[in-house]
Amino acid sequence: MTAIIKLDHVEQWYDRGKESEVHALKDVTLEIEQGDYVAFFGPSGCGKTTLLYATSGIDRVTSGSVVIKGVDIAKFSNQELAIYRQTGIGIVFQQFNLVPSLTVLENVALPMAFVGVGQAKALEEAAKLTKRLGIEQYNNRYPSALSGGQQQRVGIARALANNPPIIIADEPLGNLDSVNAQNALKIFKELNEQDGRTIIMVTHEAWSLRDAKTIFHMKDGVILSVERRTPDPNALATKLGETSAAADAEKLKEQLAREARSKEAVDMMARILSNFFMRGHSIDEMQRFETLLKQRFAAAVDSAAFQSQLASSFEEGGVGMWKRKAERIAAYIEDMIAKQKDLDAVITLLNEKPELSIQDEVWHLRSWITQEYIGHLSPYKADVIDSLISDRIHRFIDAKQFLKVLHMPVKEFGAGIPLPSAERMSERLEIIIDGAQEYTPKG
Ligand code: ADP
Ligand code: MG
Repeated sequence: MTAIIKLDHVEQWYDRGKESEVHALKDVTLEIEQGDYVAFFGPSGCGKTTLLYATSGIDRVTSGSVVIKGVDIAKFSNQELAIYRQTGIGIVFQQFNLVPSLTVLENVALPMAFVGVGQAKALEEAAKLTKRLGIEQYNNRYPSALSGGQQQRVGIARALANNPPIIIADEPLGNLDSVNAQNALKIFKELNEQDGRTIIMVTHEAWSLRDAKTIFHMKDGVILSVERRTPDPNALATKLGETSAAADAEKLKEQLAREARSKEAVDMMARILSNFFMRGHSIDEMQRFETLLKQRFAAAVDSAAFQSQLASSFEEGGVGMWKRKAERIAAYIEDMIAKQKDLDAVITLLNEKPELSIQDEVWHLRSWITQEYIGHLSPYKADVIDSLISDRIHRFIDAKQFLKVLHMPVKEFGAGIPLPSAERMSERLEIIIDGAQEYTPKG
């Protein structure tokens, strides 16, 4: 497992030197791993919100270091931080913070519009999110016409808008009745286990720690203790996590061997493969892929139909994979079927070929399209390019929008690439996406 966030001897002061000064965080050192579900727990005023905002790079700290995905955020400009906030994290607020003059759908679409996704596409994606959260019937209502529970769902849908890997939530249950609070907890659990998102939640109520895997107990600006709970061995996220942890692979294999070839095993295999191959795709596309896989495993569709469905758009009943990837994945699945591989063998193979996942695809694509670029690519420009590539692969944006944001200045949340280079990059990407040229990722 990799730590995506590291805090080292962090101190946070408010109003330092004044009479009103507060020493809100005292020598805080912690690590948060990718895919974890973390809670900051402690009484009111102990520094939970301060820690949340320091951890997620929203606020700068007085001293000590905050390292996110290997980069010390002290080195970021304010603009780079802003881009990170837009695409790297989704924030769920206690007060919901919806824009009262915008409809539900527009509220959810807003963060996408902000990073350059065209309005039509943003609204379309927003509609998928409200559907996922079960609030699509309120798409055209204004927030004031919704109950607290419904508003909170809108808030969660909005937090998911740019498909951020990290979701942070500050007392997200505080304004909800118990039924709605339980529902919200269920959603967070699902976002963690099904999507593999990292969840960081602040709370002062013990009951809401139900699903947290790592709990930082706080008091007076200090982390008193860290409680790491034994994960539920049946949770999908646990199994996926273990696919990359060689040490635990043996244990998992034993367990999986017992389950092999049962119907549950086939379903589980479809889920694991879907989570693995479809990382970065929308939840709808993941579920569609899972369904297609199950059909293929049951021989309800033939190999040619399966491959063409992978490459066709969601509207056409497919999963919107780019063509080369659909070919490779279809070939891989056919091989699996031909050799009658069981879950055990699949896990082993995924262990051996981690480069099959979407994130790696994006990185390889980025290195391919920037090969001839001689300018400096800051980590943030690289991140912007990655999310653009991902959006382009998913057809959230077209080639023109891709080029536009690539060229847009960093202060407008673009990648700031000079036009001739940006055009060259866009051309290279389009060639690959259309499958007109051989492209084999390294690895
Ligand atoms: P919690 O979220 O655990 O209730 P906070 O992180 O909000 O705690 O606050 C920790 C301490 O820092 C409190 O004493 C609070 O009054 C103080 N504090 C928080 N934000 C500010 C601020 N912007 N200016 C001054 N003091 C602040
Ligand atoms: Mg607070």
